Amino acid sequence: MPELPPLDRLLIVAPHPDDEAIPTGGLIQRAIEAGGRVRVVYLTDGERNVWPQRALFRHWRISAEDLREWVAIRRRETLASLRILGLPEPSATFLGFSDAMLAILARAGDPRPVAELTKIVKAERPTLILSPSSFDLHGDHRAGAYFTHRAALETPILTYMVHGNGPPERLAAILALTEDQQRKKREAVLCHASQLRLSRRRFLSHVRVGEAFYTAEHDVVRIDGPLHGAIATIRHALGAIVRR
Ligand SMILES: [Zn+2]
Repeated sequence: MPELPPLDRLLIVAPHPDDEAIPTGGLIQRAIEAGGRVRVVYLTDGERNVWPQRALFRHWRISAEDLREWVAIRRRETLASLRILGLPEPSATFLGFSDAMLAILARAGDPRPVAELTKIVKAERPTLILSPSSFDLHGDHRAGAYFTHRAALETPILTYMVHGNGPPERLAAILALTEDQQRKKREAVLCHASQLRLSRRRFLSHVRVGEAFYTAEHDVVRIDGPLHGAIATIRHALGAIVRR
């Protein structure tokens, strides 16, 4: 299997808070240990999270004030996770697009996500971009792949999976994590306490010896039709129930 591309300047595009620790918590540590620089761009604040919100706030209807508090909680958890992985606060950029709406933005041809990412790529000049995958079962991740591949210009891309399995024939690299890296990755995942109440087992299942990365998807990346999107979302929801 080929080696990872140079990690001098790593740019990770994360649709939601927690998409740094779960798929790339080991890679971030590896880049820092090698003297590299890492920036993580969060497309959304993961604010459409109604069941954990009801559990936290102990009421049914989530108000605008609850949402603001939720966003603050998720950003705090994210910065704590990044600190454990070795990144200072300025390494994170929060773009604040609406959670669960990225596919709608993409289908509507909204230019802002690609424009924001392009601006960051031009400023950071990454040596490698880690993109969500268009094979992921979550619509925000597929839309994130679409935006990222359009914004990457000539930069090499690898993709990561969070929901579902990547196509084995597109596997590009598996990063083996040391015991210490696994321990820190676990700590970073556990920083996302707001998510663990209902999904602890699923989250911790991503802490294992290897992180898998897949080839760039310029050849396949697209915005799926609504039917495909709906089926994938149902499969994702059923999978979450079965796994719990
Ligand atoms: Zn996500």
